[in-house]
Amino acid sequence: MRVAIFGTGYVGLVTGTCLAEVGHEVVCVDIDQAKVDGLERGIVPIYEPGLEPMVKANHAAGRLRFTTDAAEAIAHGEVVFIAVGTPPDEDGSADLQYVLAVAGTIGTHLQKSAVVVDKSTVPVGTADKVKVKIAETLAARGADIPFEVVSNPEFLKEGAAVEDCMRPDRIVIGADSAQAVETLRRLYAPFNRNHERIVSMDVRSAELTKYAANAMLATKISFMNEIANIAEKVGADVEMVRKGIGSDPRIGWHFIYPGAGYGGSCFPKDVQALARTAQQHGHEPTLLDAVESVNERQKGHLFELMLRHYGDAAALRGKSIALWGLAFKPNTDDMREASSRRLLQQLWDAGVHVRAYDPEAMDETRRIFGERADLVLCESADAAIEGADALVVITEWKQFRSPDFDDLEARLADAAIFDGRNLYKPGDVEAAGLAYYGIGRGRSI
Ligand code: NAD
Repeated sequence: MRVAIFGTGYVGLVTGTCLAEVGHEVVCVDIDQAKVDGLERGIVPIYEPGLEPMVKANHAAGRLRFTTDAAEAIAHGEVVFIAVGTPPDEDGSADLQYVLAVAGTIGTHLQKSAVVVDKSTVPVGTADKVKVKIAETLAARGADIPFEVVSNPEFLKEGAAVEDCMRPDRIVIGADSAQAVETLRRLYAPFNRNHERIVSMDVRSAELTKYAANAMLATKISFMNEIANIAEKVGADVEMVRKGIGSDPRIGWHFIYPGAGYGGSCFPKDVQALARTAQQHGHEPTLLDAVESVNERQKGHLFELMLRHYGDAAALRGKSIALWGLAFKPNTDDMREASSRRLLQQLWDAGVHVRAYDPEAMDETRRIFGERADLVLCESADAAIEGADALVVITEWKQFRSPDFDDLEARLADAAIFDGRNLYKPGDVEAAGLAYYGIGRGRSI
């Protein structure tokens, strides 16, 4: 099928590439000329495992093209995806300006009937707004062209986006017409072969499904962080508690890891946006507000542990701290809302020098913070330790999992590790003569 995709970010680029991979003819549109030029030359602007070779292969095969020419893309697509950003507005609700701008562009250039697919995460009722915007723009040019607007939220995870897109758990399609569902069924048929993955429903339920999924995951994380903080106070180890509850199939093992708070471009903004939607409809979102405030507090927790070790902020002044990890999670270079950003600011405010390393997010860190005297971006985890007083681990990259604790003890002047993702066993670290601080590890504090 012929597909146009607006937005070549994490979602648009991965979706477009995976659709091309299964044989569809895809044209990706972006307003960012430099990004489009780069992609046409095979430069993939984000890090996602497996993405770059797939982009190159499908581009070389002529099934995947990149352009800034919206008219050309709309002329091409029988299915037109909207996969642009929906960042938080000032009050936390989703800012729809980019989505509605694309809707206007579609109305301006549409020449033949098409199915327009909302893939961006958008509040309930947005498909109606997109429909109105396209209809108004068509009417303004005196055109009468049939079109459908479908909600097809995306559930891919950054860091495993290609894998998720090629083998989705489910494909949610919210549509008003059986014909539109049928079009998307044909499009997704290559991903829906071995068992039924398509869940079709009405548009509003599909829009709410995406927020419900992210809010549920964020709730699990904040719940575990709450338990971790209680564990710390009462002298229990949350890692034991996690093992004790995860075996209950009603609870399960996924997403019950305590840590330094959730970040990324989705959970923080989607929890907030859902809470605002609830309020706009007269419902007080008590649980969602708590999920968010627990997370906000948790992002400051590593620094609190450091204060506990050093006594107060003044004692941290002039210290050199090694930081392992910057991305909001492993296998991505994305630093949007990353917990590392909060910690960096707290450390800098306290007069600390940071020696940081992340396997993928160094360029992004440089782009965000520029040159700073109190930030050294190191070439390796080992180089970050050089001359450091203590180590903080904030992203659970695999390569940080089994350091040589004896070596760390010899090289870290203050012999302390702050483990924001509970990667280590307190006993192993302490046996090497290091002080260990984890999340919710009351027994070792
Ligand atoms: P992103 O910020 O990485 O990319 C958005 C892209 O859209 C940018 O390249 C931007 O230049 C482009 N754009 C903006 N206006 C445009 C226009 N008028 N025409 C063409 N291109 C335009 O965003 P993302 O992370 O891919 O997220 C996109 C949407 O998908 C959001 O609603 C997000 O919530 C949702 N989502 C994201 C993820 C994720 O893991 N990142 C997962 C599921 C859903």
